Amino acid sequence: MTKLLLSASLLAAAVFAQQSPNALHPAMKKIAAEVSEDRITSTLRKLESFGTRDTNGVIETPGHGIKAAREWIAAQFRSYSPRLEVRFDPHAVKKSARIVKDIDVVNVVAVLKGRTQPDVEVLVGAHYDSMNMIFKSGTPRVFDADATASASIAPGVSDNGSGTALVLELARVMSQYEFDKTIVFVAFAGEEQGLLGAGGYAEAAEKSKEKLEAVINVDVIGNDVTGNGIQAGGRVNVYSGDPMDSSSRSLARYMREVAERYQPDLRINTVFRQDRFGRGGDHTPFLNHGFAAVRVTTPTEQLEFQHNEKDTFDRVSVPYIASVTRSVGVSLGSLAMAPKPPSVSPLSRGDGRYDAVMKWKNEDLEPDLAGYSVVMRSTTAPFWEREFYVGKTEQFTLKNVSIDEVVLGVRAIDNEGFASLVTAWTLPVRRNFTGAPGAPAATPAP
Ligand SMILES: [Zn+2]
Repeated sequence: MTKLLLSASLLAAAVFAQQSPNALHPAMKKIAAEVSEDRITSTLRKLESFGTRDTNGVIETPGHGIKAAREWIAAQFRSYSPRLEVRFDPHAVKKSARIVKDIDVVNVVAVLKGRTQPDVEVLVGAHYDSMNMIFKSGTPRVFDADATASASIAPGVSDNGSGTALVLELARVMSQYEFDKTIVFVAFAGEEQGLLGAGGYAEAAEKSKEKLEAVINVDVIGNDVTGNGIQAGGRVNVYSGDPMDSSSRSLARYMREVAERYQPDLRINTVFRQDRFGRGGDHTPFLNHGFAAVRVTTPTEQLEFQHNEKDTFDRVSVPYIASVTRSVGVSLGSLAMAPKPPSVSPLSRGDGRYDAVMKWKNEDLEPDLAGYSVVMRSTTAPFWEREFYVGKTEQFTLKNVSIDEVVLGVRAIDNEGFASLVTAWTLPVRRNFTGAPGAPAATPAP
């Protein structure tokens, strides 16, 4: 009898997933192992060699300036694999506070088409433009747009050659593999002038109803020691906007879970905030257009060396950049292999009125879908506390669990153990969060 029961439960486990959902997948391990410090070093040195990558493009001589930089970036993408579809993505911008003349802000985009869900995309991006901020003399300091645009040296190695090197390195390594979903690698321009390139991209993505499931924006991962000597201590910050179960927060939790499993010595420090205080980044336009988006940044920025001539190669840590690159790579790769997140229905208490009944749906099921798991945590807990593998069903009842006291979510898992983002059931948001009275209006979180 015991033997029979045991084999029945083993059979159930085998039917559910051929690979345990928490197993390390060999392809993801290989991707992490193939990230090369030498490649990152040569990318950073090359980006620095353009002198400036200021978006205004005032300085344009052979091998110098943003145009030369983006042509080199596009050529790099093209050299990695014929499967990468490479294009320039221009957005016309008028003269404004930081833009000295009407110009095209030009992103560089490389698309690796997915195999089974090519219309669903995951994106990793970093701005490749740099800036050397120059101020007019006198107090208070006044920004000098013309002098800034004309500065011939703006190395921008940490901000944001480091993120650009991550995007290029992942494009190089990952274009040797096939994924279910489409992966989009983007080098954005115009970040320093007001998130212009990412803004243009995100607006177009919303208009054309792109199924952009996740956006990982990497900006400033060059340093693991601050100017005052504090060390990063083996961690990287991942910022995600409110509310507590926003799709962006779900993405941040996903990265923490996946990346720390593959690379335990780099902790994912999930910061439950859209961004650093008073500062912006390219994930924000994506949030504003309704997409899940997070920001990846070192906790130890060297603020005194940003936006000036001192943001040079000799100040950055290549091993740290490589480590962050591996974490982002396994997160992105796992997500690109995973099923779509299911959509959930409102929770109910069931016929007995004392249970938690969770229902969900998955439009056009993936052929390799193994089943679902329901996750649960207390309302005050930051991360999922319990997980129930429920198989290929679209409903699950937790006996004697009060729906008032917990948050419940569900994720889809495929045969190889790749899990989707979690969709949690939350009360519908009646209005966008705009901050406390008197506080500056925050951008709405999806
Ligand atoms: Zn930056």
